[in-house]
Amino acid sequence: MNIKEARSQFPALDQLVHGQPLVYLDSGASSLKPQSVIDALSQHYAKETANVHRGIHFLSAQGTMKYEASRKAAQEFIKAPHEHEVIFTGGTTDGINLVANSWSDIFLNKGDEILVTTMEHHSNIVPWQIAAEKKGARVVEVPITDAGEIDQAAYEKLLSSGKVKMVAMTHISNTLGTINPISQFSKMAHDVGSHFLVDAAQSVAHMALDVNELGVDFLVFGAHKMFGPTGVGILWGKEELLNQMPPYRSGGAMIKEVTIEKTTYNELPEKFEAGTPHIAGVNCLKAAIDFIQSIGYEAIHKHEEEILKYATSELKKIKGLRIIGEAKDKASVISFVIEGTHPHDIGMILDEQGVAVRTGHHCTQPLMRRYNVPATVRASFSLYNNLEDVDRLISALKKAKELL
Ligand SMILES: *Cc1c(COP(=O)(O)O)cnc(C)c1O
Repeated sequence: MNIKEARSQFPALDQLVHGQPLVYLDSGASSLKPQSVIDALSQHYAKETANVHRGIHFLSAQGTMKYEASRKAAQEFIKAPHEHEVIFTGGTTDGINLVANSWSDIFLNKGDEILVTTMEHHSNIVPWQIAAEKKGARVVEVPITDAGEIDQAAYEKLLSSGKVKMVAMTHISNTLGTINPISQFSKMAHDVGSHFLVDAAQSVAHMALDVNELGVDFLVFGAHKMFGPTGVGILWGKEELLNQMPPYRSGGAMIKEVTIEKTTYNELPEKFEAGTPHIAGVNCLKAAIDFIQSIGYEAIHKHEEEILKYATSELKKIKGLRIIGEAKDKASVISFVIEGTHPHDIGMILDEQGVAVRTGHHCTQPLMRRYNVPATVRASFSLYNNLEDVDRLISALKKAKELL
């Protein structure tokens, strides 16, 4: 499928908002869904409903096969060495919470340090704070430069404390669009004996993920920013670490044998999948992966880079507009503020013209503080956007400027 055909797969784009054709520039918050994913969801509930890993009847066996086929697809998608290293979660936040809880239980001790960067999403900060507090450990900030890149010298210095046990870093900043050089940073962390978790929530829709190349210990993402359903995501972790980690949630499916006195736990991946999982979501995740692969990351990247370049240069022509985040290596996410206006007011006027953007702190309050702004307007582009969408954004912004 080429990129033009891909756009036609999204029924959400075929509607008017406030009387205008929708321009959806909020894929960083959640992406639209292609018809194939919508069909997979409806097919599941119409014809395939049954629980997995339990029944011997036809639908249950078929459901289990599909569920595990999704795991296999996910394994291949991120080039994971083993299928059982892929754990289905409720999403990015859930995956980070699992690791922060379970990993810290055995790997984190009093006086240890966890590094997070200024550009992390709150869900890659708060779970580590809670884990650190329980253990008497400390969360330490890795600063960024004005351009929105991680300060490498500072990172190196922080790693040399000899106390760092975990580095938790986003692959792509959801606010700045910065693409972090993860393989380089994970190697630096490993050189001082630290583990490394990468938050791939933003990258999975834009670039191929290869856990070997990234050289990380844990990788998390959710399905809903990669054209899939809400409420489901993936945690990949190295087998040797996952095997040492205790269960995060307990109940059905994660057990081997239960007596009232004592329980023995199941093997990976079931050890981390207590209760009935989001079966419909997991099955649709495969449809989302298939959709991405039918277009290919190369075509996606080429297309989005063109949009990013064009949008950046057009936005810069608007007087008083300041782009926040000008890293050399950037994904198609642009945050900006306009002198003398509040992002929220701009967002409302854009909405009236059918242009959907996100305004606010984007769950990155430390980053807002770093740039001394309360909020930004964020336009995040996906494979279904085009240059006309950029033109609509620019003309809507000009109107907003007139009105404000
Ligand atoms: C969206 C996002 C998250 C949180 O994802 P949820 O879907 O809310 O769990 C975490 N990190 C980044 C970088 C994100 O963009």
